Formats: sequence, C-alpha cells, structure tokens
Amino acid sequence: MTKKIFIIIGLLTTYLSGYSQYTTLNAHSHNDYQNDIPFWSAYYAGFGSIEADIWAVNGELMVAHQENEINAERTLDQLYIQPIVKLFKMNGGKAWGKNNNTFQLVIELKSAVEPTLSLLVRKLDQYPEIFNQKVNKNAIQVTITGKQPAPSSFDKYPDYIYFDGNLNQKYSEAQLKRVPLFSLNLKEYTKWNGKANIPANDVKRISKIIDSVHQLGSKIRFWGAPDIINAWKVLINLQVDYLNTDKISKLAEYLNNYNHTQYTAIEQHIAYLPTYAYLKKPMRVKNVILLIGDGMGLAHLYAGYTANMGALSIFNMLNIGFSKTSSADSYVTDSGAGGSAFAIGEKTNNRSIGVDALGITHENIPELLSRRAIKSAIISVGDITDATPAVFYAHQSERDWAEKIADDFMHSPVDILMGGNPKVFTSRKDGRNLLDELKKKKFQIIMDFNDINKLNKGKAIVLDDKATCSKIDGRSDFLPKSVSKSCELLTNAPKGFFMMAEGAQIDYGGHRNDMQYVIREMLDFDLAVSEALKFADKNNETLVIVTADHETGGITLLDGNYSKGMIDGQFSTNDHTGIMVPVFAYGPHSEDFRGVYENTEIFKKIITAFGIIRK
Ligand code: MG
Ligand code: ZN
Repeated sequence: MTKKIFIIIGLLTTYLSGYSQYTTLNAHSHNDYQNDIPFWSAYYAGFGSIEADIWAVNGELMVAHQENEINAERTLDQLYIQPIVKLFKMNGGKAWGKNNNTFQLVIELKSAVEPTLSLLVRKLDQYPEIFNQKVNKNAIQVTITGKQPAPSSFDKYPDYIYFDGNLNQKYSEAQLKRVPLFSLNLKEYTKWNGKANIPANDVKRISKIIDSVHQLGSKIRFWGAPDIINAWKVLINLQVDYLNTDKISKLAEYLNNYNHTQYTAIEQHIAYLPTYAYLKKPMRVKNVILLIGDGMGLAHLYAGYTANMGALSIFNMLNIGFSKTSSADSYVTDSGAGGSAFAIGEKTNNRSIGVDALGITHENIPELLSRRAIKSAIISVGDITDATPAVFYAHQSERDWAEKIADDFMHSPVDILMGGNPKVFTSRKDGRNLLDELKKKKFQIIMDFNDINKLNKGKAIVLDDKATCSKIDGRSDFLPKSVSKSCELLTNAPKGFFMMAEGAQIDYGGHRNDMQYVIREMLDFDLAVSEALKFADKNNETLVIVTADHETGGITLLDGNYSKGMIDGQFSTNDHTGIMVPVFAYGPHSEDFRGVYENTEIFKKIITAFGIIRK
C-alpha cells in the first residue's frame, strides 16, 4: 500500500471560503428591465442583485435606458414594485422566500437627483416592511447608483436608502454606513477582453481596489466587464462580490454548478516511480494486468494529476496510445460494448455483454487463456455484474440482466472475483444461492472486505457493498488492496494470469458532473495502478495496461493550480462522449500499445502478448 501523505494547505480555509461561497446571490442582473421578463427571470434564477434605471416623468418613475425609450407601459411600479409586493405576499411576509433573504435592488437615477429620488422615497415609503431594513431585517436593500446626492446630503433621505460608492470620495464613518456597494467600470482599469488572464500589472491594481473596498466593509461589482465564463471565473478568483451580467440563465447555470466543478484536493499520494527494469532485460509476458478507468478521458487523468500536485503513477508508464471507442451501433459507446471490445475483440452494440452485434457469443480472454491453464481475476470497485466486469465472464445481449450475468459466472473459468452487489448471487428470483454453489466449487467466499487477508491461494470471491461505496462516502483501499491481494494469490500460478481491475466510479462522477467525485475516484484508481506496477517490477514478466472504455462528462479544464491541487472545470454532458481515450502500457510487449487504433485491438494485443495467435 502506497504511503499517503496528508497535506493540509495552510491557506486552505481562506482559499476555499473564497471559492466555495459563490452562489447566484453573487449575481447582479445588469439593466434587468432589458430582459424579456424583467425582474422574474433574475428572481427565479436566484440572483442577489437586480438593477433598474429610472426617470422621473410627470410625477411617475419610468424605467428605460435612454430618455427616448420611455414608454408609458413601463413604470418602476409595474415592472418592479408590484411584482416585489406580490412576491412578499406570496411568501407570507418573508420578502424573499426561504433561500434568498438578502437581496439588493440597484436603482440608477437617470434624471435629476432631487425630484427622482424624492419620488422614489415616496413610493418605497408605502411598503416599509418590504423596503426598509430598519423595519424588517430581511427587507430589500435599495441602493442608488448613477446620479447621486453628495454624501453630505445622504441624511436628507431615509436611512433605508443606500448609495453606490465612489472611490474618489472621502466618506465620514456615518456616511460610509450608507455605502454597501462600490460599482466600478472595469474598462478603466484594464483592456482585458475576458480571455485568459488579466495582465499582471492590471491585476495588481484591481486587487488593490478590491481589497480597499473590502476593508471598508463594502461589496464590489465591476460593470463593463466581459460577460463570459472565463471572465466570471477570473473575477471570482479576484473575490469580486457581484458578477455583473446580461446573461441571466448562463451565469445562473455556471454558479449553480460552481461547487461541483471546482475542487481543491486536501489529500495527495506519492506516485510510484517504476524501475523500468523490463527495458534492460526483455522477458516474455507471463501475466497481464488490464486496469480500466470507466469513463476516464484525458481530462479526468489530467485533473487527477493536477489535484495530486503534478504526479500520477499512470504518467510514469512510457508507452502510450489512443483507443477509438465507437461501438457497432453508435458513435458513442456504453460500457457494455466498450468492455466487450476488450474482452472478446469484437465491435458490438451498446448494452451487449460478451456477444457480437448479431448476439453471437465469442470466447472472452479468460476463456481463451483457461485452455492454456492461465488463471484470471476480475475486480471492480462497483457492482460486479455491471457491464465492465461482466464482459469478462458473461455472454448476454442485455447488460441489465444481472441475474443471468451472475449465473454465467458459474460457467466461467475466472478464479478470482472481487466487487460489490452480492445480492444478485444470493437473493434471486430462481431461489438459488450461487455463493453456496460456488463454495462447493472450492471458492473461498468473503463477504466482509476486512477479512480479505484471510484468503489463501486458490479460487476466491470477495463481494462487499459497503467496501465498494464511493470515495466521497468513505471507501477505504478496496481497489488497490484487491489488486495487490489478487497479485499475491496468483503470483505462483505456473502458467501466469490475466487480471482486469476496474475503477468503476470515475464514470459515476462524470455522470453526476461532480469534479470531486471524478478526481477522488481517479486518484484511487492511480493507487491501484501503483500496485500493478510494483508487482510488474518484482518479476519483469508482467504487462500492465491502463485505459478506459470511453470518456464520461465531456470534461474540459478551465483552470488549475499544481501547487494547491486545485482544478476548475466544466462538464459538457452528463453522459458518455465519443472522444478517443488514452492507453498506457508498461512491461514486456508494452510497445505494442503505441499508436492510434480501435478498442478491439487491445484484445488482440493482449492475447498476442500471451503468445496466442488468432486469425
Ligand atoms: Mg463500468
Ligand atoms: Zn457510464
């Protein structure tokens, strides 16, 4: 077992708080009235701040950007005050409902300060419990922007009226209490277009301003800022309080996913550096260990590498290729067809388990090898009848036929089976208890992973649901330990062995669009690879192959930090994608895995390495 080092990054708390507290409450709907549905779109997106521009015209407050756009239908009362009053009543007197009790209405005065603001105060005074935070602490904060009274005149207006700050203005302490927000034009500080990073000198200047506003106890918003995902990310990193947007739904989606798409690792492991002894002393292949990271694309690997502060055992393997993953009936494969390509060497339809596209059974690797007395072990840190492990012992045209798949194991030559979901062997519709039957076939049966060290040489089954939960839910070392234990049990197999070990849950993290889930499963898988590489270094007759059946999540990496183990990414789908996946190989015959090829070639390369020639 690789020693783990636990690194608590000194700045972690501040660092994480800066990142993880961003929600849609940090979103500001700029010129909100220009949206198709003023107020409600931003409100239902959970925005913390909404902005309207007003003009005083004949005793009424009109909402418009330019004077010539004023339209009798569009008053502040109609577009904002009445919807807010309605909402207040709907929420039983709680202004913003359960999730949103801080809320800011930013009102830009477009016409002369005095008459416009007085008119506004008269309007708001009608609803003190909604707009006056002195009356109701959950009332909306009304902040005046644009044309402003001089700070010396702030006290001419009721104390629930707040003002947008001006950096060039000196405020008394009392005046500053009326300034909860500073809105600045980003273009005055940088020419940055939102791509990549803000130039370093500009960052210094902008950071200083942000710090000075925060020291005053106020919040900061930049208008005129690029309104794209990369810009939002950069502004969040700078700890800007309000992200100014005209794209309500896009920013809401970004912020709603934010805590799942960025992750800072708090635990790292030391990557195993292999000896490469096989390079000096070419040997035949006696054993093959195939490690499949389900759904593990290059971005998953690189996210894991970054979170592990720039180290992965997998990246120490020298021979690298790419596997094309399409299935017989789809550009985008599932794990049934993707795994079957490895196990039987045939392109088949999605959902198929060890049968070709016509439903015809083909011998899988363990069956082929058993005729040469080569042993096999199948390991998954997931449901053992799920597609990826199943393709190595079952032949069914539907991956969901779990009971039939378990039954197929009764006729399989596989010697070691480790994973989750014992129920499908014991609580079956046909009333059989397959584990009892397997015990009669000389299998040692372990139902508690903690007992794994009780296993002796020979056939073994380890099925434990608790031990195969996710890393997030507290899984220990099931996968690396199952690999090392199986190597130990099979090491003296006279004719050698084949082992398939699956990091099943990398795929689950991709489906869930959860970066932490992906990375922690990926790093656990890397520890399993470490065990395989260590075993290979002990005998020089073991070929280790690491690959994936497909990519899951369409992950892109937008930002990262090697020294902090931080990754910020995006998911483009919650399903599999069609992109090629990397193949890494170590040991004798590892050079066979260079190049770009179909996933079915991996089957051929494995049996060729064992010296089996098939037409
Ligand atoms: Mg799988
Ligand atoms: Zn999947």
